Amino acid sequence: MGRQKIKKITLCLLLFSLTLTLTVFLVLRYPQPVANLNNQDTAQSIPLQIDTDQIHGIPLYIDHKYIGKSPLSTKLPPGKYRITAKPAGYVGSVRYLTLKPEDPADQKIILPVDQHNYQDFLDEITRLGYQPVRVMDYYDHVPLTKKTMVLRHDVDVSAAYALKLAEMEHAKGIKSTFYFRWSTADPQVIKAIRDMGDEVGLHYETLATYALEHNLQSAQEITPSVKEQLRERLKSEIAEFKQKFGDISTVSSHGADENIRLGVSNYQAIMKGQDPSDFGVIGEAYGEVTDHFTYMSDSGGFWEPFPYPQLESDRGPFYFLIHPIHWASSFHFIHPVHVSSSFNKNLPLPR
Ligand SMILES: [Zn+2]
Repeated sequence: MGRQKIKKITLCLLLFSLTLTLTVFLVLRYPQPVANLNNQDTAQSIPLQIDTDQIHGIPLYIDHKYIGKSPLSTKLPPGKYRITAKPAGYVGSVRYLTLKPEDPADQKIILPVDQHNYQDFLDEITRLGYQPVRVMDYYDHVPLTKKTMVLRHDVDVSAAYALKLAEMEHAKGIKSTFYFRWSTADPQVIKAIRDMGDEVGLHYETLATYALEHNLQSAQEITPSVKEQLRERLKSEIAEFKQKFGDISTVSSHGADENIRLGVSNYQAIMKGQDPSDFGVIGEAYGEVTDHFTYMSDSGGFWEPFPYPQLESDRGPFYFLIHPIHWASSFHFIHPVHVSSSFNKNLPLPR
């Protein structure tokens, strides 16, 4: 074997081992593990950047789990996610996201941030020329325009917050509807709100109460005979509410934990498809009224949908469901109220 040949073989071996080292290095290096929220990071995980519009440092949540403040980057396995941004004391925003491996990586989403307290909200709708009406006004055939806005409040937790909202509206000449649960029906607050010209009604939870009493486990247990009992119960409740607090024209269905567990709302089980006059009222807040408006809700403390861009458009008339409890930034001057454990959950629209 000549010297040249030995040199060539040595060179080849050197090149081969270099290539091998490089290959091993690359294989070990990629894919690179990245810290992940759920420790579910896989080679398939998709990078995601989450930010909030105009303002940073807003608490972010993925599927109800806190992940830090905006802006931030994360990696998630493919799947469906509910991403929310929630400034304390203000109504948050939500984005439903489907991450797929075939979609381009490096996804970036920007969530809007509501910085309106309730006074600001009223100023904004006034500036845009909206004319709030009560739920009963719709059923009394008030003329509708694109600027009509049904303004409804479900008083789930605090009568004191409801009164503050009503006072702010009254100062601007705005009338709306307040639905009280039996647990929030404070006679003095109801009288004060009525005296300002607002509508008052019952926020009924008849199925939820029955489900607790009878330990109902599934929707199948809500038989026709159970429904009949529920209807009779609600009729009595409405009569009793009228007797205690004065005449009412409409009622609205409350979304309790039991309704979520059963997958059936109070409205679906009791009043849907029924004649409201059989119950002594002219309409239900989830009745036909909702067919005629663009529906906006702060249920669970999150706007769905985020209303402000739509208010600037001509997509009216609108129907706003606003819960006083989600506007804490507007009430810093009154004592915080106890919030029941059943609250702060994102209640689906009970329809
Ligand atoms: Zn409610």
